[in-house]
Amino acid sequence: MNNPMNRPRISICAALHLLCASFHSNHAAETQRPNILFIFSDDHAYQAISAYDSRLIQTPNLDRIAREGVRFNRCLVPNSICGPSRATILTGKYSHANGFYNNTNSRFDGAQTTFPKLLQKAGYQTAIVGKWHLVSNPTGFDYWEILPGQGQYYNPPMIRNGERVKHEGYVTDIITDQALDWLKNKRDPSKPFLMMAQHKAPHREWEPNLKYLNHDGDRKYPEPETLFDDYSGRGKAEREQDMTIARTMTPRDLKLTAPAALTPEQRKAWDAYYEPRNEEFRKANLQGKDLIRWKYNRYLHDYLGCIRSVDESVGRLLDYLKETGLDKNTLVVYSSDQGFYLGEHGWFDKRWIFEESLRTPLLVRWPGVTKPGSVNQDLVSNLDFGETFLEAAGVEIPSEMQGRSLAPILKGRTPADWRKSFYYHYYEHPAVHSVARHYGVITERYKLLHFYEPEFDYWELFDLKSDPRELKSVYGAPEYAAAQKELEKELARLRAQLKVSAPDPPETAIRPGRGRAGNKPGR
Ligand code: CA
Repeated sequence: MNNPMNRPRISICAALHLLCASFHSNHAAETQRPNILFIFSDDHAYQAISAYDSRLIQTPNLDRIAREGVRFNRCLVPNSICGPSRATILTGKYSHANGFYNNTNSRFDGAQTTFPKLLQKAGYQTAIVGKWHLVSNPTGFDYWEILPGQGQYYNPPMIRNGERVKHEGYVTDIITDQALDWLKNKRDPSKPFLMMAQHKAPHREWEPNLKYLNHDGDRKYPEPETLFDDYSGRGKAEREQDMTIARTMTPRDLKLTAPAALTPEQRKAWDAYYEPRNEEFRKANLQGKDLIRWKYNRYLHDYLGCIRSVDESVGRLLDYLKETGLDKNTLVVYSSDQGFYLGEHGWFDKRWIFEESLRTPLLVRWPGVTKPGSVNQDLVSNLDFGETFLEAAGVEIPSEMQGRSLAPILKGRTPADWRKSFYYHYYEHPAVHSVARHYGVITERYKLLHFYEPEFDYWELFDLKSDPRELKSVYGAPEYAAAQKELEKELARLRAQLKVSAPDPPETAIRPGRGRAGNKPGR
């Protein structure tokens, strides 16, 4: 079949008809095309959104989107780290097709086709505010104001259309303020808009808004069952990673040292919260599991403190849409660049094909389209976001995009030929956190994966039905022989269809020391 993903296409005629209607300033046609508000965060675990799981935190504003729209339970990312996920969203392509493989030395080729460029061409006004993290400067946006590189939590400098600007305050508030300022004062209200409001939070080092330092009243957080995982039942890659709460967290991660960017006044507020608690910690001289428990609790305090502000930001943006009536014709999406570990398997961070890092939150509200309060279990992906926005805007989806529009699913009608399997591929090794390269296939029930570097070279198979926490590989077990054979066939089919090269292309090589230039003003 020519079209590998069996993607339905909007005919060129239909797309042109829509475009002509809008170019002729047909106001009725304009108002029919929805605005798109894409709210995006960095490293937001679904475990920390109460619409998914209310054990750790209440997120009333994020829950509003779920209550008025669809919550997707299995939104999978093809390569679970920041830059690659962002490149996938913009292009609708896997890392090997858009050229952005890793956070260490990839650089986004801004000349390629992206969904914001196509929306812009179709008459949308396009803007991005917040974290970008793709090294080259944004293309396809009428307005952009981004954090350079990873950005900083307190008093973050930003780059606005190429010019450096200073801000004082907390990054999540500032991104929200700037996004609202564009919506209120800077956009052309005669055009439909795409606003991408992209948070730094809750990325490491998980630094909360100073006003929320005491947000949890020194709560003791419930511990995941696998906090003290010994990685038996799995292999060398799982044992030899470097992302444990026990060994990997730094004094900075644990707030035993303060960030440099604080003003003297902010530093006072920081010290007033952390110093007495740190002093108590130093005196207690904790060891072994008690020490790990303390670190886990400090981590959760800080991480969830960041989520408070993200949720507040979502509330401010939703309120603005409602106050202005824009909510009636705005497609609102909340997602993150991947999932994250909150102590499961003893870990923080992401990268793995395993559920906590593979699954990213996805909440979508599209008035008149989504059924309020619905929950979806289909295998969807951030590969599909661009295609969805294009279909919503009546723009033809380029055949080179590798995902598929979620529009039918948002209407409550999953196509019969929707994907039943999903390909995953992680490349960033050897590098920070020492997670070995791996690829694999995911189905509703199973996961087959291969750690393929010569020093690893082993396979694993997990049965999510009997082992939802992915603790024991059943690869090679006789009772799984038939399932394993099917999955091997499916994996080979996906790799061929997606044109994955073996071995990895040279540009995936990690070249330490080369460094990343990051975004600089004036280029
Ligand atoms: Ca991330």
